[in-house]
Amino acid sequence: MISSKLPDVGTTIFTVMSQLATDTGAINLSQGFPSFDPPQELLERINHHLNSGANQYAPMAGIPLLRTAIAEKTRRLQGRTVDSDHEVTVCCGATEGLFCAIQAVVRAGDEVIVFDPAYDSYEPAIALAGGITRHIPLSIDDDGFEFSVDWQQLADSINDKTRLIIVNFPHNPTGAIFEAADLDRLADIVRDTDCYLLSDEVYEHIVFDNAPHRSLLSNDELWERMMVVSSFGKTFHATGWKIGYCIAPKYLSEEFRKIHQFATFSINTPMQFAIADFLMSDPGFYEQLPAFYQEKRDYFCGLLNESRFGLRPAHSTFFQILNYSEISSEVDLELAQQWTREKGIASIPLSVFCEEPFTGTRLRFCFAKDNATLEAAAEKLCAL
Ligand code: PMP
Ligand code: GLN
Repeated sequence: MISSKLPDVGTTIFTVMSQLATDTGAINLSQGFPSFDPPQELLERINHHLNSGANQYAPMAGIPLLRTAIAEKTRRLQGRTVDSDHEVTVCCGATEGLFCAIQAVVRAGDEVIVFDPAYDSYEPAIALAGGITRHIPLSIDDDGFEFSVDWQQLADSINDKTRLIIVNFPHNPTGAIFEAADLDRLADIVRDTDCYLLSDEVYEHIVFDNAPHRSLLSNDELWERMMVVSSFGKTFHATGWKIGYCIAPKYLSEEFRKIHQFATFSINTPMQFAIADFLMSDPGFYEQLPAFYQEKRDYFCGLLNESRFGLRPAHSTFFQILNYSEISSEVDLELAQQWTREKGIASIPLSVFCEEPFTGTRLRFCFAKDNATLEAAAEKLCAL
């Protein structure tokens, strides 16, 4: 028997639920992926580059054109000027970026703080680096809908071993976002510590109700200690492309690249050229994403008006949390699987992202779907 390096890790909930949905023919609102295609112009650029010889290794850190386009976007949106040669690295989706960022700074015995519900790729990456994950639950307000960081608890949890704090706002799965005061509180708390910050901002362009995305990148004081990871998968309706990036000051990017160059070396070339072209020719594409997804959110929530679910429309991401306390007292993981098999609708339970199952009777539904799918899903949900 092999002595597993990750004895507690099984198959991810996304794979489990999507497979179950496929096997049972259920409507799949579990794993987060759009049911529609990337913009046509972007697809055409890929075709163009595939047929123009862009088919060999890209530079390790990413093609200069794409790194420049990412730096330009960062300057435009966050007001931060980053050096595209030394501070931007293209990686294989956010997943690889998060993995490399964690390996770059976490040493054996170091502690890393995450906020529950926490995206499931953080803890195994921390464990492989020899680190120890400390979970702080997000606080829930009295109505049971608003999630936020308990900053005092964070301050109380930091000790000499704390090496890294991972934040993820816009937050998957709750849709919580950072307010300006949150960044200030974070800066106050880490000011006299040696902690690094890893910010998972894959939903940076999907924030609703005219709220801004408060990137860590917008904070000058925090810059020297941050690594910010994002993904084009969410931004261009292309989760299967697995292209993302990491922005970090030069000394951290150097360490990040040492890992990245042996994790993947480089990322597929024609996609990089196509995304670079598209970012430059249509820099406004991501500006219409909030309206696009807000309409989907509102449509989906509206269809559930007559249902017995408790809900508050998500502040961000393409996920809606539904509270089923009026319908069932079953454990969320069991219920998600039962409803997939018996009711034909697949979702993601929240408890699998938590050390303590504080999240109770809540399931996550992906609304990045065409209206017909949302209507069919809502019909099933209203019948529960
Ligand atoms: N972080 C979060 C919070 C995510 O939701 C996802 C994917 N949905 C990722 C990271 C991974 O992104 P990618 O698919 O680009 O690897
Ligand atoms: N991040 C996606 C989600 O939250 C899933 C990614 C995956 O399947 N690894 O649904």
